[in-house]
Amino acid sequence: MTIIKIGIIGAGSAGLFAANELGKLVLRNAQISIFEQGPEIDKRHCPIKEEELACALCDPCRIMSGVGGAGCFSSGILNLNKNIGGHLGELCHDANLNADEIIQQIDDFFVQNGAPNKIFDPFEKAKKEKLRELRRKCASVDIRFVPVKQRLLGSQKTTEVITSIQKFLESNYNIEIIPNTKVTKFDDQRNLYFDGEKKENFDYLLIAPGRWGMVWLAQQCVKLGIKTFYEPLDIGVRVEVPAIIMEDVCHIQRDPKFHILSHTYNDFIRTFCVNHKGYVIKETYDEKIAGVNGHQLTTEGKSENSNFAFLIRQQLTSPLQDTTEYGKSISKQTSILGGYKPLIQTLGDLRRGHRSRKSLIDRNPVQPTLKDATPGDIAMAYPYRFVKDIIEGLEILEKVIPGVSNNSTLLYAPEFKRSAKRVDTNSFLESNKLKNIFFAGDGAGESRGIIGAAVTGIIAAHGIINKINCK
Ligand SMILES: Cc1cc2nc3c(=O)[nH]c(=O)nc-3n(C[C@H](O)[C@H](O)[C@H](O)COP(=O)(O)OP(=O)(O)OC[C@H]3O[C@@H](n4cnc5c(N)ncnc54)[C@H](O)[C@@H]3O)c2cc1C
Repeated sequence: MTIIKIGIIGAGSAGLFAANELGKLVLRNAQISIFEQGPEIDKRHCPIKEEELACALCDPCRIMSGVGGAGCFSSGILNLNKNIGGHLGELCHDANLNADEIIQQIDDFFVQNGAPNKIFDPFEKAKKEKLRELRRKCASVDIRFVPVKQRLLGSQKTTEVITSIQKFLESNYNIEIIPNTKVTKFDDQRNLYFDGEKKENFDYLLIAPGRWGMVWLAQQCVKLGIKTFYEPLDIGVRVEVPAIIMEDVCHIQRDPKFHILSHTYNDFIRTFCVNHKGYVIKETYDEKIAGVNGHQLTTEGKSENSNFAFLIRQQLTSPLQDTTEYGKSISKQTSILGGYKPLIQTLGDLRRGHRSRKSLIDRNPVQPTLKDATPGDIAMAYPYRFVKDIIEGLEILEKVIPGVSNNSTLLYAPEFKRSAKRVDTNSFLESNKLKNIFFAGDGAGESRGIIGAAVTGIIAAHGIINKINCK
């Protein structure tokens, strides 16, 4: 029996779920090697201990790289809906797969591996009236509310679940997860290169390096003549309010998704990654850029505040299409003003054109969960258009969530979701240029989120399986 060798780059959601699908369907005649640049799961330590939250400094390498990928220390919100996290419905349709069934299968696998049984379902009978009322309120002020069934792992549980998934894959299939192994390049003959010019050849490659590896992947694509396309930029602020303000909407949906169009610029704004009773955390990127994110340790949440990303989507056209470069330059400017820390400002000060000062933040009714941020003026760093969008967007949202645009609402910047460049692939995510090389997940611009990345990993796995079966 000839053994088919499959090499996967990245042990994140895309890589792990692709491997599971390949393991199930190809069974014994395949050897699947997953190369992961970061450490094994038990060597990854969440830098955020509860008692240190006030001054959490997140090393992005530990957060975003290692077995489990970027999802490992995330709040672990699983959005069980094909309309969230990428164009999952379309991608599955093009690959002749049923998106709803695949999402169900992914969710079942998470539960089998220890995810909490509890599901947050806005459609459940007891919430029917509340959901109807929320939808009515949203519709009356031109907000689109997207009801989504969600499962929340909580950051503490996520690592246990990933550990169990890894054990399952390694003990049931010919799958080997190789940590601390950076792939330095791949070529058109499906060779993977490692440090010290060591190389290994594979029959099929799946490249799933996540956001941590997206710049590297884009560079590899240029070298190999693989076309890539820019995706829109998501930039905005992290909003922090008293948890009680968010209580009603978070009761209906744990991570409520509101889509808004700003009045002046008609820009698309959305709420993302709502951490009810959670914490704002600091992230540091390359070139000393400090950013913010949100975090939730347990399903119940412990903090007195809730936070969410409030993101403006911006597509750029010629002459500058590079949304990452544009977003980075805004984030850099914001970090410089904050002394390489994120900026914090009250919405009241942003409205009035005042810089927030420490003395004011100390007296503010809403106290920040992230202490390591510099009181400042976001308007000094962000383009006028985005400042206007943020103020207008929160004032529209106020009509559905009273109190969200209070003067005391805290805003942190930069909140910037880098988009990877989308790789040119066919419907099974195989390169249109190089045969038997597949791409999946956030790093290839195919998804935005744990479930989305897993779905694309499964699509690519089906592409590989189809090719094996046709041989
Ligand atoms: C703080 C935070 C909170 C988040 N919260 C949520 C949430 O609640 N819900 C949600 O759905 N999503 C959340 N996300 C996003 C989610 O984690 C990602 O969408 C998802 O992990 C993407 O999966 P992926 O497999 O594409 O990539 P990743 O999970 O990023 O995995 C890619 C892996 O590839 C490795 N790699 C990169 N380059 C190489 C190389 N050259 N050689 C070897 N290995 C390489 C990386 O080290 C990484 O471990 C969050 C992200 C962060 C950072």
